[in-house]
Amino acid sequence: MKMTAAGLEVVAPKKECQDDRCPFHGSLKVRGRLLTGKAVSAEGKGFVVVQMEYLHMVGKFNRGERRRSRVSAHLPPCIDAQEGDRVTIGECRPLSKTISFVVVEAGRGA
Ligand SMILES: [Zn+2]
Repeated sequence: MKMTAAGLEVVAPKKECQDDRCPFHGSLKVRGRLLTGKAVSAEGKGFVVVQMEYLHMVGKFNRGERRRSRVSAHLPPCIDAQEGDRVTIGECRPLSKTISFVVVEAGRGA
């Protein structure tokens, strides 16, 4: 069941936080792309690295090649994401040099 929270088709986190850079409890707006990937590193403070895998078709051979890309996303304190979790991230304003996404949903097992 999907609900709408912060203007997104995601389930709002159960916890609350004081982070201003949180789409649910702060003033951060999420607009643009919404991506789903796997959290491959949750070691950083306040952010996770999310890896997306996709199939890129190569016409000449009529086959696909697997490609992957990684983006760093801000992790608000109310969302608890661990390595290996399937996470949904939304595009937001640039929060730092390399971060312009924020985690909006995290689930166990990917
Ligand atoms: Zn929050």
